[in-house]
Formats: sequence, structure tokens, C-alpha cells
Amino acid sequence: MENTMSSHLTVVGSAALDTIETPYGRAEDSLGGSALFMGAAGSLFAPVHIVAVVGDDFPTHQVEFLRARGVDLDGLEFVSGKTFRWHGRYHNNMNYRDTVSVDLGVFEGFNPRVPAAAAKAEILMLANIDPELQNSVLKQMVKPKLVVFDTMNHWITDQRQTIVQLLKKVDMALLNDEELQLLIGGKSTVDNATKLLEMGPHYAVIKKGEHGAILFTRHEPPFLCPAFPLCEPKDPTGAGDSFAGGMLGYLAATNDIGSYNLRRAVVYGAVVASFTVEEFGMKRLENLTQEHIEERFRQFRAMVEF
Ligand code: AMP
Repeated sequence: MENTMSSHLTVVGSAALDTIETPYGRAEDSLGGSALFMGAAGSLFAPVHIVAVVGDDFPTHQVEFLRARGVDLDGLEFVSGKTFRWHGRYHNNMNYRDTVSVDLGVFEGFNPRVPAAAAKAEILMLANIDPELQNSVLKQMVKPKLVVFDTMNHWITDQRQTIVQLLKKVDMALLNDEELQLLIGGKSTVDNATKLLEMGPHYAVIKKGEHGAILFTRHEPPFLCPAFPLCEPKDPTGAGDSFAGGMLGYLAATNDIGSYNLRRAVVYGAVVASFTVEEFGMKRLENLTQEHIEERFRQFRAMVEF
């Protein structure tokens, strides 16, 4: 799908080594982090630049598949110390997970510097990092056409004012239902999303795990996107991030943020996320192709037609 007219996508977030436990097994030091998941997914569609930090223990060979796909890793900073590590445990209901431990390592001192090529990207994905750092990244960009914001409960609780200010400067908020409720505290998802759009962004994509996602815009009715039904999802880690990567990669490749194309982008996000959860960590994204994606996109369309 990539063509010479593609916009570029810059993603700023975490690069991690994850330990993951699900009812289907366990993986250790599995490649993870929001920036890497988004890069792996987004690069299936369009040119991607990654801005993140890793330590000197980082297994560089594991990101070779990204380099081979043309991902620009100049913004992946190597710092002396340990790579960010996250340990998550899922139970039988894989919509919920416990964070067993977090070891920030070099991520604690992350001060994102956006290289020149990444700064020129038309689409910027501010994944879940300190909102002050998200602000600093935004200032380093040349002239992005679409700025997308993600966060997590911790930042909503601790840095609400920074987030409120940031929301005035972003075009799209990409949150899960729980984060949205914590941020807005309204009566329903629709009530919350309506209030969120009044705070700044033109678009909000609210993720609901295995129940799909809803796209809200200011002037159109919401778009409901189910999750692609799978019999044996093995590991939901990175589903949200690869949803974001797929959606924004598609928008970058097509250079169109009209309301119909936004809907298609959300479906591509859901399709890519459905592949991610089929294997542990990033394994499925490593060998995924455009053909696989298009085939599932067709199946998806047939499932929602009535
Ligand atoms: P998702 O399942 O889409 O929410 O993304 C999971 C990824 O987020 C994992 O690969 C983790 O390494 C990463 N992650 C977990 N906690 C944090 C955190 N506090 N800050 C940044 N990234 C995190």
C-alpha cells in the first residue's frame, strides 16, 4: 500500500522487554513497548520513524525486521543502563491484566530528541509517556498535519492539568474506555467522548478491548467498529498499540483524513490488532504481510455487512 505519495508517521513512546503470562503460556524478554508495536504495525503501510530509548542490554538483532521494512531507527537512542521492563499477567478473561512489575531503567530519564527526518513527518503519534515529554516532542515537530495523543491512568491522575493543556493542541485522542472515564468522569462513553471533543481534539477513538472501538468526530455520527472475532487470542499485549499503528499507517499511506477514510483506518487498526493477539509479543507482526491484512479486511467487511 505504501507509495511515493505516502505521508510519514513518527511514533514516540516506550521500547521494552516484556515478560508476559497468559493462560496460553509465558514469554520472557519479549520485544515490546508502545513505540515498537506501533512501528511494527505502521510500517506495514507507510514510512515510520521511531523515537524511543533502550539500554545497552537491548537485543538489537530483534529490531532487524523493522529496519528491513524501512523503519527509521535513528531516533532509537541507546543509553548506558537497562532497557525498560514490564511484566504483565492475564487471567482467563484477557480483557484485564495485572502489572506484576515495572522496571523503568533508562526510560526513567527519557528525554526524547526528534531527529530531523522524523520531525518532518505529517503524522505524529504521541504514545503513552510523561505528558510533559509529549509536549516537548510536539514542539520539536516541523508541521504535523495530524497529532494523535494516548496516555494512561497514572498520568491522568498525576498530571491532569498538563493533559488538559495538551488536549487543546492535538487532533485525535486515542484512549481506552477506562482512561476516558477517569479523564472525564461522565455518565457514559458517548457523554465522555462528547465532552472530550469539546476539550480540543476533532477526533476521539475509544478502544474497548475485545468489544472493538468507537470513532467519534465532532459533526458525524459515531462509527462502531467491532474487534475481529478470534477463537484463541493468545496474548493481548500490544493490541492497542498495534491498532494505533495500523490505523495511522493506513492514514499515512492514503493521505486522507476524510470521515469515510477515517472509518476504513479504524477497521485496518482492528485488523492489525487481531493479528497481534494471535501470538505472543510482536511475533505475529514480524511476518505479517499486506496480503494477510487485505484478506482479513475483506472477511471483516463481510462480517459487518447487513
Ligand atoms: P498495550 O497492550 O497496547 O497497552 O501495550 C502494551 C505495551 O506497553 C507493552 O509492550 C509494555 O512494554 C508497554 N508498557 C506497559 N506499561 C508501560 C508504561 N508505564 N509506560 C510505557 N509503556 C508501557
